[in-house]
Formats: sequence, C-alpha cells, structure tokens
Amino acid sequence: MAMTSVSIIGAGPAGSYSAYLLARAGFDVSVFEEHPIVGEPWACTGVITEDVLSRQLKLPEELVVNRIEKARIISPDNNFIEVKLKNDVVIDRAVFDQHVAEMAKNEGAKYYVNHRFVEICGNGESDGKVTAKIRNKNLNQLKGVESDWLIGADGPRSEVARSAGIFGNRKFYVGSQVTAKMENDNLIRFYPSENGIAWTVPENSRIVRAGIAANKNASGYFDEFMTQAVGKDYKQRIIARQAGPIPVYSPKAQTQKGRILLAGDAATMVKATTLGGINQSLMAATAVAEAIATGKDYSKLWKKKLGRDLWLSLMMRKAMNRFSDNDYNKLVKIFGSSKNKRMLEEFDRDEPRKFAFKLLLQEPRLLLLSRRLLF
Ligand SMILES: Cc1cc2nc3c(=O)[nH]c(=O)nc-3n(C[C@H](O)[C@H](O)[C@H](O)COP(=O)(O)OP(=O)(O)OC[C@H]3O[C@@H](n4cnc5c(N)ncnc54)[C@H](O)[C@@H]3O)c2cc1C
Repeated sequence: MAMTSVSIIGAGPAGSYSAYLLARAGFDVSVFEEHPIVGEPWACTGVITEDVLSRQLKLPEELVVNRIEKARIISPDNNFIEVKLKNDVVIDRAVFDQHVAEMAKNEGAKYYVNHRFVEICGNGESDGKVTAKIRNKNLNQLKGVESDWLIGADGPRSEVARSAGIFGNRKFYVGSQVTAKMENDNLIRFYPSENGIAWTVPENSRIVRAGIAANKNASGYFDEFMTQAVGKDYKQRIIARQAGPIPVYSPKAQTQKGRILLAGDAATMVKATTLGGINQSLMAATAVAEAIATGKDYSKLWKKKLGRDLWLSLMMRKAMNRFSDNDYNKLVKIFGSSKNKRMLEEFDRDEPRKFAFKLLLQEPRLLLLSRRLLF
C-alpha cells in the first residue's frame, strides 16, 4: 500500500516540526520553502523559555545566543519592576529553524527550497487528494504536487489559507525590530504603553535586539521608542533590520478545510500578550501530526493543547489595549509589591491561565484594572 503523503508549505518551526513528527511516524513528507536558505530572512527576537521548549525538543547549546536572568518592565513614567527569569534564552532563529529542518530530514522528510506555493488546484480536494501548484524558482517552472494532506505552515500571510478560502478577517500587529550596538547590563527591558509593546533584548554586552509591535502608527512609535531606549543617535547604531507582521490570535479562524490544515502563524496561533509564537507553532505541529496519524479532529486537538492560553492571552491583550499610560503606571506600582513580584517570577508565560487567577486572588486592586476586560 502507498504511504500516506503530506505536503508542508513553509520550513519555519510549525512546518519543520510537523515534518519531523510526521516523517518519524512513517509518513511520506515533502516540505516546500520559498526561500533558498531555511531560516532566512528572519524576523524574530528569539526569546523563549527553555523549559517550555524542552517539552518538545532539546535545544543544542550552540543555538543559544544569550541567557538572561532578569527582566525589567518599565512604565511610561519610568518606574520599573525587576523580575528574575527562570530559563529565558535568546536563540539564533535562523539556526534554530535549520536545526529543526535537519531533525526532519534525518527522519526522511524531503526538503525543496526555492519552491513557492502558489495556489490549490480546483476546489481543494478530489478523490481524497489535494493538489498544490508550486513554483520551482530555480527553473521558473510551475508544477502540480498531489498529496493526501496539505499543511499550511506558511506564516502570517498564509497563501494556503487564502487559497483555501479560510484566511478570514485577520488582524496584525506591525513588528519592527533592529539589532543595534548598545552597551547593556544583560537585562531584557519591556516597555508596555498605550502605543503597543516595545523591548530591548541583549545578544551580548554590546548588542541588543530592539523593537516594537503596534497596531497603528508603527513608524512614529518605533522612532520615539528607539530615541528613548537606544539613544538619539540610534540610526547610526543599527546593524540590521528585521520586520514582519504578527497575527492577532483569532479564536474563530478556521484552521482546517478537508485535507488542508493550518498551523502556527498561518493559523494566528500567537500569544497576544507577549506576541511569542515559537512554542505555539511547535505545539500546533504536535496536533497536526496527531490529527493525521489518528484521524482525530485537528481543531479539537490544537485547542486542547493551546486554545485556552491563547484565548486568555487575547483577553489580557484586549484589556491592555484599553490601558492608558497612567494605567500602566499603576500596574507597575501594584506589581512592585514583593508578593506580586514573586508571583510574576513564578509565572510560566506560556500558561497564563494559572497565573491570572492566582494573581487576581492575591491582589484585589488588579480587579479595578481588569474591569477594562468588560467595558
Ligand atoms: C519582530 C518579531 C519578533 C518576534 N519575537 C518573538 C520571540 O521573541 N519569541 C517568540 O516565540 N516568537 C516571536 N515572534 C513570533 C514568531 O517569529 C512566529 O510566531 C513564528 O516564526 C511562527 O512560526 P511559523 O512556522 O508558524 O511561521 P514562520 O516562522 O513565519 O515560517 C513560515 C515559513 O513559510 C515560508 N513561506 C511563506 N509563504 C510561502 C509560500 N507561498 N511558499 C513556500 N514557503 C512559504 C516562509 O519563508 C517561512 O520560512 C516574533 C515575530 C516578529 C515579527
């Protein structure tokens, strides 16, 4: 009997980890990546909690650019709280993607770089097969690739989702980041404000990744933030720029149409609080592999693994979107108390539900702020 075949579009974390799990389970897996080199270009700060990542895969030490022990959350009035981090690392995102792709190749997945998905042929499915039109950019040739399953792991602008008619009405933050020369004390700095969220994350004592995510006026906000955090001469300090859209999690987004599944950013699976999506993409890949191997409902599977925390992060984000700068000033003061700070340090960022309830019980003043959840 012929092996069940799976075509995966995109060799980011969602695509390559799906490829690894499926190839390991004995499926015939092909990955199509539009760029010539897996992992490049990248647009990511690369902050992950190693503990959480290790539930999926072991991080080789050579991928770790920096280990960071403390973060500062800085309010618009320049007060801050400093929290100890548990296992936060900054990774080399390009090499991380290449590492996961190697894991998949070692299990037998075939990789086709410089191959761009163009569209799904026909109505999507015929005789239990899906045919994708793929452009081989080396030869500038279009070919039809038929498989039993098609996985859209092609990032925030997902052409697979569009072509399947399930892109829906998504919203995005504009993420704009640079690597810049800046002497620093190896702390992550977060700057939440009514404009959005901004950060500086050290690569080493002389270089930071500094950026913003905003849903309006991103370039004005970027300029203002960089002047404040990096310095008036920030333009001369820039080494490289990385930018990209970050999807706002959409609980109603359709993530499956017949034999077509969406995973990771292509399915908007990004935490709306921190805008992290690497771990979420890996977890989505476990749902992809399980759905294909067992025939279980994909959306039920990923929602069970991820849904509640993505939803809670979205609710927290919606509340934060209503925060004024003054609310952030108050929040930093509330968190400044030692018992709340301790809880923040214990907070597993990938599982906000545990944290939110504990915190509300401990700190009734937060209820005053959380009313913005409701109005
Ligand atoms: C500025 C910024 C900072 C971020 N910082 C963090 C962070 O610190 N921590 C964190 O966890 N997350 C962070 N994220 C989010 C994180 O980068 C994403 O959630 C993650 O990359 C999603 O992985 P993915 O595999 O779903 O998609 P992607 O990584 O976007 O991979 C999609 C792949 O598909 C390929 N592709 C696209 N279209 C096609 C096509 N038509 N045909 C073939 N191939 C195609 C792309 O080239 C790409 O390789 C950040 C994002 C941005 C923009």
